[in-house]
Amino acid sequence: MLKYLVVLLDRTSAAFCHADNPYSVRELMPLPVLQEALLFAMKENLSVQFVYPDYELPDEYVSMIDSVDHIDIRHVVGGDVCVLDGMDGDAEIDGDNVVIRTTSVELIDNLPSLIGLMSRATHVAVVLTDMLSMSDERLGRYGEFLSDLEREVAGMIQSGVVPQINLLTDRLFLAEMNNCNAGWESVTVAPDGRLYVCPAFYYEDESDSIGRLPAGPDMRNGRLLRLDHAPICRRCDAFQCRRCVWLNRKLTLEVNTPGREQCVVSHLERNASRRLLERIRPAVDFLRDNDICEIDYLDPFETIRL
Ligand code: SF4
Repeated sequence: MLKYLVVLLDRTSAAFCHADNPYSVRELMPLPVLQEALLFAMKENLSVQFVYPDYELPDEYVSMIDSVDHIDIRHVVGGDVCVLDGMDGDAEIDGDNVVIRTTSVELIDNLPSLIGLMSRATHVAVVLTDMLSMSDERLGRYGEFLSDLEREVAGMIQSGVVPQINLLTDRLFLAEMNNCNAGWESVTVAPDGRLYVCPAFYYEDESDSIGRLPAGPDMRNGRLLRLDHAPICRRCDAFQCRRCVWLNRKLTLEVNTPGREQCVVSHLERNASRRLLERIRPAVDFLRDNDICEIDYLDPFETIRL
């Protein structure tokens, strides 16, 4: 069931997930389209997430946006979600929910910057932008990085600071899948009123639209985006995985079949969360009953082939 409407206010709105926004020429969503988007959200009872470009919007846009409950996503601190492009340890965040878009190489080389950001943010979500080019050597280094991060986070927790980072701490509190669910629970409207599974589908091919406003989405085979039609994912317990259907399609040509890269990255994170849990559980009352079992694979596909 749809729950969220993501509104790209401009073609140059901030990318906030795995895919880069290739557009550099501004094209602001016309006011009547914005109005249509808000009407659609109201009729369907959807929460609205606005994604901003890097310039100030005219006053009439601000008034219309402020007329509904919403979440702001932009390259600006002090909003609901602040997107950082790259590891900037000096970014002036102050209690923000932060999305850091970075490559695995940059992340691995900047653990101190990440720790600094974690100590000043409410929640940090790291999104890797090089998932399509992950080699086995890089995956091995990423696993080592997560071990270092896990030790740092354990130290912070033991000294009374409880950081929140999607790579490690989200999984501690999850008892079921908490995926992106683009196209199933959320849909994205582009500045011209056309609808897409998510911004990545819009960035990649504008003709890949799933409908337009005011009619709403009309998805053939939309069930394939759902967890219950993803035979590998529905057996998995890497509950923090984004289960990105855009990455799936890029890596396997099927929206409901994950590529090895996404599964191994998510399992390295899951296993680091498990080690963190073992380390901190004695000291953290509310985690006493939580458990993440030990497994001997990094890609659930291997268990299906056995
Ligand atoms: S780790 Fe792989 S199988 Fe598990 S939810 Fe993520 S994409 Fe699906």
